[in-house]
Amino acid sequence: MASNRSQANKNLLLVGGGHAHVFVLEAFARNPEPGLRLILVAKDVRTPYSGMLPGHLAGLYSRDEMHIDLEVLARRSGATLIQDEAVGFDAAGKRALLRSGEALSYDILSIDIGITPDLSGIEGAAEHALAVKPIGDLLEKWDRLVEKALRPDGPRRFAIIGGGVAGICLAFAVRAFLGTRLSDPLHLALIGASDAPGINAGMRRRIARAFERRGIEVFKGEAAGVDPKGVTLSSGERIAADAVLVSTHAAPPPALAGTDWAKDEHGFLAIRPTLQVLNDNSVFAAGDCATMPAHPRPKAGVFAVRQGPVLARNLRRYGRGEALEEHRPQRKHLVLISTGDGRAIGGRGRFVAFQGRFAWRLKDWLDRRFMRRFT
Ligand SMILES: Cc1cc2nc3c(=O)[nH]c(=O)nc-3n(C[C@H](O)[C@H](O)[C@H](O)COP(=O)(O)OP(=O)(O)OC[C@H]3O[C@@H](n4cnc5c(N)ncnc54)[C@H](O)[C@@H]3O)c2cc1C
Repeated sequence: MASNRSQANKNLLLVGGGHAHVFVLEAFARNPEPGLRLILVAKDVRTPYSGMLPGHLAGLYSRDEMHIDLEVLARRSGATLIQDEAVGFDAAGKRALLRSGEALSYDILSIDIGITPDLSGIEGAAEHALAVKPIGDLLEKWDRLVEKALRPDGPRRFAIIGGGVAGICLAFAVRAFLGTRLSDPLHLALIGASDAPGINAGMRRRIARAFERRGIEVFKGEAAGVDPKGVTLSSGERIAADAVLVSTHAAPPPALAGTDWAKDEHGFLAIRPTLQVLNDNSVFAAGDCATMPAHPRPKAGVFAVRQGPVLARNLRRYGRGEALEEHRPQRKHLVLISTGDGRAIGGRGRFVAFQGRFAWRLKDWLDRRFMRRFT
């Protein structure tokens, strides 16, 4: 545990080690704030960087390379790190309630705990499929799946439910990793109800061609059920599969459910452009667990990353009683999808689309640069 600064008079409690909070820790490490006592509660001490997850599953990055060590960041920033999980909040008493039974008081609270997968609409998914989030759980299950797949009688038919960027990335990663390691053919299906948001027409065409070349079958439709033999779509169509991964809609973390904090229609915290929860000035939220009704954007790591530096400055300003900065998330952002073979497909906005080795080199360089900041 790292020590706190003795002259600190306000508790700044960071809950979750998500993409925005690593920026906060880094900012406080570079420029300490004597008035704030920093406490970080994180379920996982090593937090995964999702940008490198498909590369890791494809065998291109080690597990260490795709994780940020929160213990190191906490030590550098003078934060007290508590490895635990927030299971609820007592907003009136200004306390976070932890799974261990402990309650932590705060003057300022910041929440960056991501999402939980919403498996509720797919019958049998909780028992028979592997949810992609939380990533920590996925990695353990993925190891077991790979071990089974590498046996001569192991699974050969894989299905991925979720046609968003994450599902597409996973399909390429599974193909790249298992396709080169199995001696008999791998059958891979991607099931998506709609076109991936944030992917323009040019990228879509390139992705479709890349899928075709790799024998990845795409099914348009909504998954209604999963059983040990495969997936049933709501149309009744069956897709045979021995292993199913689910990367569909996000649900808000259960820890937020019992609070009276303002939420959007799905239950995610509703925040202002200052990143404060609409009805509680002392509570900030960032990343996938929050929605900014003034500037709604899809749930993606890139937005959590952009919120990070603003969150750090606003937490500092709030602690000092200064006016806060407003954040306006960008409308266009670069999307880079690794095809797992040293190439990537990229795009930005409605019209820019490209692919090739340079796109992978760009993605790799950006991701490694991001990680260097925190290691
Ligand atoms: C396969 C895949 C590929 C993706 N690729 C991309 C991509 O290329 N680009 C992109 O922009 N986005 C991508 N995403 C989306 C991206 O993962 C998320 O948008 C991003 O992780 C959100 O960051 P976050 O900070 O909100 O939360 P997270 O990164 O989920 O972090 C939350 C952290 O909080 C901790 N935590 C959770 N609950 C609690 C609790 N109750 N108490 C304490 N700690 C808690 C967790 O252990 C975790 O460390 C991808 C997602 C997947 C699954």
